[in-house]
Amino acid sequence: MFVAANWKMNLDKNSIFEFSKHLNNFKFSSKVEACIFPPMTYIDYLYNLIKNLPISVGGQNCHFKSSGAFTGEVSANFLKDTGCEYVLVGHSERRILNNENNAEIKSRAQTAINSNLKVILCVGERLTDREEGKALEYIEKQINDCLPNNFKNLIIAYEPIWAIGSNQTPSLGEIENVHGYIKKFFLKNYDVKNICVIYGGSVNLNNSKDIFKTKNVDGGLIGGASLKADDFKKIYDNLK
Ligand code: PEP
Repeated sequence: MFVAANWKMNLDKNSIFEFSKHLNNFKFSSKVEACIFPPMTYIDYLYNLIKNLPISVGGQNCHFKSSGAFTGEVSANFLKDTGCEYVLVGHSERRILNNENNAEIKSRAQTAINSNLKVILCVGERLTDREEGKALEYIEKQINDCLPNNFKNLIIAYEPIWAIGSNQTPSLGEIENVHGYIKKFFLKNYDVKNICVIYGGSVNLNNSKDIFKTKNVDGGLIGGASLKADDFKKIYDNLK
């Protein structure tokens, strides 16, 4: 099982230091792989605070080129160099707020894989797609269009856009169904039997246990509820 904490643009140096002290009290399990995605500027700092713990650090995004004249951007190589094991690509906030399209996301994923990072590719439908009964079609297109050419280090995060930060989630049956569809897609098209599919979107203390027990769910991507170490610990414990 896998759990990721996406801190987005939250937590400063002091808060990260306090959070890291709590991590020392976690009862880590060999059954759970965990990764924290701090703001870019604190990756190095967090990495050095927790490098002896069984929890890794990741980047919230990377550029699609490995170097060059791209002011303000961060390359996958740099992430790897500062201790990252993972990178998120295609998060809906970046798709919407930064106009990242599928072709660009595919390039980002490929560059990351080439830099030996593990990629969490985020996909998920808009509310209108769901209401029109087109959620699965939308997600399949996103996956098809964004896939890098190597799935060994790939995790798919199913994050319905309307569930992110909204306190709304699909029903457990709907989550099971979408995750099952994604797994079948990889089996049918690429003969891949063990793709890891995690769920993200308003996972919290109250619903995490049930979501993690749901068939076809291999873990969670946690935003808001990962900002408090005690809450993240309880969510982590629900995965064991
Ligand atoms: C996210 O943004 O990846 C996310 C899952 O956020 P939240 O848990 O706050 O809905």
